[in-house]
Amino acid sequence: MRVELLTIGDELLLGFTLDTNGPFLARALAAMGVTVAHRASVGDDADAVARAIREALDRTGAVITTGGLGPTADDRTREAVAAAFGTTLVLDDAIADGLRALWRSRGFPGELPASNLRQAMVPQGATVLPNAHGSAPGLWLEDARGRWVAMVPGVPREMRGMWGDTLEPRVRARFGAGTTVVRSRTVRTTGISESQLADDLGELARGVHGLPLAYLPGVEGVDLRVTATGFPPDETERRLTAAADALLAVAGPHAYGLDDTDLAAVVLARCREKGLRLAVAESCTGGMLGMRLTAVPGSSDVLIGGVIAYDNVVKAAHLGVRALDIAEHGAVSELVARYMAHGARLRFGADIGVAITGVAGPGGGTEAKPVGTVWVAADLRGEVRAVTRRLPGDRHEVRQRAAQMALDLVRRGLEKGA
Ligand code: ATP
Ligand code: MG
Repeated sequence: MRVELLTIGDELLLGFTLDTNGPFLARALAAMGVTVAHRASVGDDADAVARAIREALDRTGAVITTGGLGPTADDRTREAVAAAFGTTLVLDDAIADGLRALWRSRGFPGELPASNLRQAMVPQGATVLPNAHGSAPGLWLEDARGRWVAMVPGVPREMRGMWGDTLEPRVRARFGAGTTVVRSRTVRTTGISESQLADDLGELARGVHGLPLAYLPGVEGVDLRVTATGFPPDETERRLTAAADALLAVAGPHAYGLDDTDLAAVVLARCREKGLRLAVAESCTGGMLGMRLTAVPGSSDVLIGGVIAYDNVVKAAHLGVRALDIAEHGAVSELVARYMAHGARLRFGADIGVAITGVAGPGGGTEAKPVGTVWVAADLRGEVRAVTRRLPGDRHEVRQRAAQMALDLVRRGLEKGA
């Protein structure tokens, strides 16, 4: 149950593109109990690809490649794999017809460019893996000894789609269901430090239900991840659930979800349940809070809109913050944050107004209000809460953390039953 991964493309070697395909496939394979024995990247060089394929076939006999299946001259995977297998490329009529149909359906004028037909050239004897997410199909080539190479496109969205549609079932059929698997579960927390969490966890910090625990701090908070390695699938699931429950119990109100849960989605869901609508007022984040919320599909039934109140003139004219208060307390202050939230709620006719004002840096800090000082406020039907933090990181990080902090203030306010 061993596989190798080969990611292909000059841009990976030059560092312009971060290899995300390798890690995605590595996690997915581990989750089904298949070991990744070797991972490598090579450039768009047919000889280098062919050499890497030969080596992998000798070592492991099972390879998944990503990239280099497109229509252009730098896409050399097909010919390189054919060379490694000592075979040639032949035109696959079904792929060619499919490419022509796709060309017409997209409304392009004229005939399919000849270069596109490169995508219809397949190593003799290869099985075509349909690609419902783009134009280049995947390929599966196997030799008489049962050694195989699966080729999928480099575009991450297409690669992920094809993994689920065709490749995962094939790999599974090939190896049978794994007897032991590697799976993780993550408890997402925010508004609490890593060290505080570690203290609160006490004995659990060393392992939860026999599973090792990782602390993963980031701009959205601290993720707590437990990983089960080497148990049968049922046992894995049982242990992960028990461990996550134990972590949730300790993290209490700081936990907002599991795995890849997004705090903005949690806030929107809570608002929706309660029939509440939201408006935002953003200074230093300049729309990031709005972006977080509108990134979630279906947000329009909760989010009404907002104001980028960057200049104090906008805070006054569009949110009703008094110029006198700004002059007296400063734009980054509890009072101004509260009035911004209140103004957003009233002016948009919302149930909840959320506001952010802060010093994102690198300039603009003072002794009293150093870079990273942020006030967020939420007006929940007239009940206004505000919190301040001195956020770490550079300008981008401070802004990301501020948006998360504002979402969390709303979440906690709603949990207290607004
Ligand atoms: P296409 O038909 O789009 O040309 P392809 O199979 O030829 O697909 P590439 O040309 O290698 O794929 O890559 C297409 C895009 O996908 C590039 O923009 C590249 O940055 C991205 N990409 C390729 N490989 C990876 C990878 N391993 N991780 C993340 N992104 C990748
Ligand atoms: Mg390409």
